[in-house]
Amino acid sequence: MSYTIEIEDIPITITVWEKRWMSLLFHYQDKYIALRVPHTKSQDYIKAYLTRPNRIEKIKAFAGNVLRIPKYIPEPFDESFPSTVNVWDIPCDIEIIECKSKPKIELTGNLLKMYIRPGFTIIQKFNLLHKFYKSIVKEAAPSIVKKWEEIMNVQIQELCIKKVKYHGYCTIQKLVSDSYPVHIIITLSSNLAMHSLDYLEVVIVHELCHVKLYNENRTDGHGKNFLDLMDGYLPDWKAISKKMNKGELCWWEKQKLI
Ligand SMILES: [Zn+2]
Repeated sequence: MSYTIEIEDIPITITVWEKRWMSLLFHYQDKYIALRVPHTKSQDYIKAYLTRPNRIEKIKAFAGNVLRIPKYIPEPFDESFPSTVNVWDIPCDIEIIECKSKPKIELTGNLLKMYIRPGFTIIQKFNLLHKFYKSIVKEAAPSIVKKWEEIMNVQIQELCIKKVKYHGYCTIQKLVSDSYPVHIIITLSSNLAMHSLDYLEVVIVHELCHVKLYNENRTDGHGKNFLDLMDGYLPDWKAISKKMNKGELCWWEKQKLI
């Protein structure tokens, strides 16, 4: 069952689903916001969920930048696409090439060639770049995951790469069936392609530490068990993460596109 509600004049497609959690999705390509909700949640609950401070800010940013609802277009909106972006922590110059064929990105050395259709908007360029980021994280991550699954003696069932703000998170679905009691998904952000491969490894080990502690029934969030494991497996994880957190916000983070 699907219906649309409006939050501060912004349309949001609500779909009732079987799962027990809420899932808010921003569809950049098709330009709409979707919220999936369990059937047990009331309208008031849904409205309260959507209007929580951080969330409503994100919804308004999407309404302005993607839906182009005039009321929410940030002033001034920076319409210029960056001329340099990082790929695995190396600054690469962007060359825009307008063409009629399918949009794509090619990386040669430190030059990132962006083949786009004439009139491509900043959002479309942003989506294309993230598609590229996603593809290179997808290429790099599986072998690192496999390496650490062996070292740490854990196993996950699914690896997802998505355009999400958090660098990584892990979802543990319990009791999928009797013969298949758990389904563990690690989700990595396509954003990780901007940072170093060392940092990608830190994020993967971080998530696998959560899995290991879950398996051993010693889950403590980011408490002592977790930190001891991280220190044991990757002694310099803190230094790598520290270097990361010092980084400036990139333009799409400033524009709140992610
Ligand atoms: Zn964590």
